[in-house]
Amino acid sequence: MSASLDSLYQQVILDHAKARHGDGDLPHADAEHHERNPTCGDEITVRVALEPGTDRVAELRWQGAGCSISMASASVLADLAPGRTLGEITALVGEFREMMRSRGAGEPDDERLGDAVAFHGVSKFVMRVKCGMLSWVALEACATGLAAA
Ligand code: ZN
Repeated sequence: MSASLDSLYQQVILDHAKARHGDGDLPHADAEHHERNPTCGDEITVRVALEPGTDRVAELRWQGAGCSISMASASVLADLAPGRTLGEITALVGEFREMMRSRGAGEPDDERLGDAVAFHGVSKFVMRVKCGMLSWVALEACATGLAAA
């Protein structure tokens, strides 16, 4: 990856860590899940509401505290999740997980992953992968629970 792309990605992460899209409570959520990352101290609760009568996510909101990577990743996820079905959510989390396990290899698909491609560089730092995955794992648990309901 070029140095300029790396710094662009870092800027995306810093911007999202500051903006924290989706930060807040979601009353009447259809599912919620709490995740902790003891190695870094990150904690997050992800809540999702479905469009009534569908399996499509209407809104994702989250509350948490932790490092910039974990908070920025949740902010990106809050932008990406709405409008997707539970099946599409599970597939998206799978793609993100694959990228986060790539250790910096390959080219992430920004049409599929949007701003989440900014975390490609984080995959080189094994200790930070869990930070990036935290909210996504929580959302995956929400989706699995809702799909089984
Ligand atoms: Zn962290």
